[in-house]
Amino acid sequence: MKKVLIGEITKKRLGHYQVDSVELGKPFEWDRAVSRNFCTNCGTTVEIGPDYARHLMAIANYQVTSLDELKEIYFETTGCGSCKKGGPMTAEAKRIITKKRAIAPQ
Ligand SMILES: [Zn+2]
Repeated sequence: MKKVLIGEITKKRLGHYQVDSVELGKPFEWDRAVSRNFCTNCGTTVEIGPDYARHLMAIANYQVTSLDELKEIYFETTGCGSCKKGGPMTAEAKRIITKKRAIAPQ
């Protein structure tokens, strides 16, 4: 009975994910990636290419002179392609703050 209750509480927390700063500090795996998209709805962090970055920049009302500048930021959104959340999505450009420990060898 207790376990069922805990399960319910966890479900309701969906939409309040925190970004993983270690993940953000990693080098891109995809050679076309210019930034990352973190979704607070499902907790997914994905690398994004120039086209999707421009799309998110338009929503976030964020401008750069060079896409290279996007390496230092990530886009926090309230929906993404993984969770396909309905309704309008908001996006916010945020500066990546990595902890020093994050880049230490494993
Ligand atoms: Zn999502």
